Amino acid sequence: MIGAGLAGAAACAALARRGWRLTLLDAADGPARGASALPVGMLSPHVTRAPTPLSRLSALGVASTLAELQRLVPQGQGWQACEVDNRGHDAGRWPAAMVRPAALVQAWLAEAAHASPLEMRWNTRVNRLEHRDGLWLAQGPDGQTLAEAPTVVVASAYGSQALVAQASRLVPDEALPLRPVKGQMSLAALDGEALAPRPQRDNGVFVPLYEDTGLPPRWPARLWAMGSTYDRGEDNSSLNDSAHERNATSLEALCPPAALGLRNALASGRLLGWAQVRCASLDRLPLAGALPDTAALHTLMAHAGPRRGRVALQDTPRLPGLFMLSAMGSRGLTLAHWCAEQLAARMNQEPASDAWADLLAAIDPARFAWKQARRQQPAA
Ligand SMILES: Cc1cc2nc3c(=O)[nH]c(=O)nc-3n(C[C@H](O)[C@H](O)[C@H](O)COP(=O)(O)OP(=O)(O)OC[C@H]3O[C@@H](n4cnc5c(N)ncnc54)[C@H](O)[C@@H]3O)c2cc1C
Repeated sequence: MIGAGLAGAAACAALARRGWRLTLLDAADGPARGASALPVGMLSPHVTRAPTPLSRLSALGVASTLAELQRLVPQGQGWQACEVDNRGHDAGRWPAAMVRPAALVQAWLAEAAHASPLEMRWNTRVNRLEHRDGLWLAQGPDGQTLAEAPTVVVASAYGSQALVAQASRLVPDEALPLRPVKGQMSLAALDGEALAPRPQRDNGVFVPLYEDTGLPPRWPARLWAMGSTYDRGEDNSSLNDSAHERNATSLEALCPPAALGLRNALASGRLLGWAQVRCASLDRLPLAGALPDTAALHTLMAHAGPRRGRVALQDTPRLPGLFMLSAMGSRGLTLAHWCAEQLAARMNQEPASDAWADLLAAIDPARFAWKQARRQQPAA
């Protein structure tokens, strides 16, 4: 497993439960140091008037993550149940939870280590994946082999793109269109009363009060937060005042006194911030499943006779033992667990539920390469 955020940890737990022996590699010095280091995020449904793949995935995902939180993390030590007021489109009040993702990541890794052998290796950046004699070799900066296994799951968010593109000889941009989207959150200690009865969402989410005894010491144990900005194409985690100001502008529409408080805290140096990079796919859906063998796919399409170019997505040839769980976008809390369960079931060759066949196709990492191969076939 490469990557120890929500995606990698959820996949470790799902695979360990099925008896898999695991080695987890991460470039950072511990779990949940990337986007999953988010101090507080919302677990809330994506509501649309008519169902879409994302709204259906999010309904399944909210239920499954909530069950995991209830099972593994005491309330007040990593999450709090709440409701959220959707103020923009699809207005309404929805059940939700405020969650510190690291609490869930740590709980999943602890559970995985308990269920099955799990070796966790930090400060271990994988630069290259090479397939040799039936094994995937994870290689470091000097070409040294860091770990080897017949099966690998790439769960390294935007870092997945370079690894997978190289390993599977995909054309990075069209066949695996992942994009970095930087986000900055503004937050501060809450000294007095909360300025709203519950979280408010429109262009961003205002959390008027979040209390968590497990928050790392760099954050106040009682805080308010507003976030987050969307900077497409930006791949860095530096904080800046202009992003705080954009959060203040979004907050004005939700709670003007809180926007004033944000600006005052910024001016007086009391405002805290957190920024990280989300990984989003071109169609905004996650990628969970086996990676395509694009060379074999093109050959298959070209030789499909009168049905040239008509190979079904599920018949796409796959690279042996190379899987991916990534592109959680702004919804890692909602999507990581449900997608990890589907991935682990597939890796374990369990029968897939027909009820979700279209959703599994919607998150199939081969979908982009498959569409591209179809487009490139000359008319029969
Ligand atoms: C500002 C902001 C606000 C957000 N708000 C919400 C919210 O309210 N609700 C919600 O559900 N989601 C939210 N998200 C999104 C959520 O944080 C992500 O979807 C989720 O954390 C992604 O998890 P992940 O495991 O895919 O990625 P990450 O947590 O980023 O983990 C990827 C891991 O891979 C490792 N890695 C990368 N490359 C390599 C390599 N080559 N070798 C080894 N290791 C590598 C990294 O070190 C990292 O630990 C927000 C994100 C941001 C930035």
